[in-house]
Amino acid sequence: MTLPTTLSAPLAHTPVLDHGFLELWNMLGADQTIAASARVSLSRELASLTDHTDKQAERDRGLINRLMRDRHTSPFESVVFQWRVRAPIFVARQWFRHRFSSFNEESGRYVELQDEFYVPDQLRVRVGKAMDYQYVDMEAEQNAQFRARIEALYHDARTLYEGMLAAGVAREHARIVLPVAQYTTFIWTVNALSLMNFLHLRNSPHAQAEIRAYAEVMEAVFAERLPWTHAAFREHWGAGAV
Ligand SMILES: Cc1cc2nc3c(=O)[nH]c(=O)nc-3n(C[C@H](O)[C@H](O)[C@H](O)COP(=O)(O)OP(=O)(O)OC[C@H]3O[C@@H](n4cnc5c(N)ncnc54)[C@H](O)[C@@H]3O)c2cc1C
Repeated sequence: MTLPTTLSAPLAHTPVLDHGFLELWNMLGADQTIAASARVSLSRELASLTDHTDKQAERDRGLINRLMRDRHTSPFESVVFQWRVRAPIFVARQWFRHRFSSFNEESGRYVELQDEFYVPDQLRVRVGKAMDYQYVDMEAEQNAQFRARIEALYHDARTLYEGMLAAGVAREHARIVLPVAQYTTFIWTVNALSLMNFLHLRNSPHAQAEIRAYAEVMEAVFAERLPWTHAAFREHWGAGAV
């Protein structure tokens, strides 16, 4: 019997922001794995893995929908995604708040960080009342002036960093001058339940646009890899679902 693992090689690299990317690095399980995990309650776990008829698929899809609706969440923990992410440190910092998952990150102590910083094409300006504000694009000339100043600041920080490394300063000390726009790389291992919580919070109009850019790509991959679970997620997942 072959378990329905759907991925044999990492997906194509998807660029995100100016120097970032997202890759599905590895994956364990499929929609049928979730149905099988739930069916073990009735000693019928093999049905979802061995019966490839349309009728079984219909039963499994219906079961997944009911599990999601009734918050019977543990079967969704049986599918695991592993992503490789390159993102600015301020995005990673928001990401690392998601505790039901595991992270491994590039070390600024053991390697020299690459000369890559996030520069937004278009700065956002906040308008409206607190907690009810909206964003509009900064006017073009002012946007260009600030972008030039941001780039000059990053250049100075990088020059100081490299100067300290050249003088023999330890990498973990030299890095303190780098801004939170510095790019970092990490591996994120997360089960489907925790990933849905992430998508609910971060692929949302309330999330910061930069982390949302990653969550949008991730949700498209999630929908492609777990179509039944994704459909149920978007039908039933409401505020405070986990
Ligand atoms: C738009 C937005 C703005 C935010 N602003 C801020 C901010 O200003 N300051 C700030 O500090 N954070 C902020 N956060 C982070 C937020 O508070 C969460 O830490 C983050 O979204 C991770 O969500 P989580 O706890 O649901 O995820 P996970 O850590 O993956 O936890 C998943 C679920 O497990 C349960 N759980 C986890 N740990 C516990 C626990 N200790 N006790 C009980 N249940 C637990 C909860 O149900 C939780 O939803 C913001 C998040 C968003 C999306």
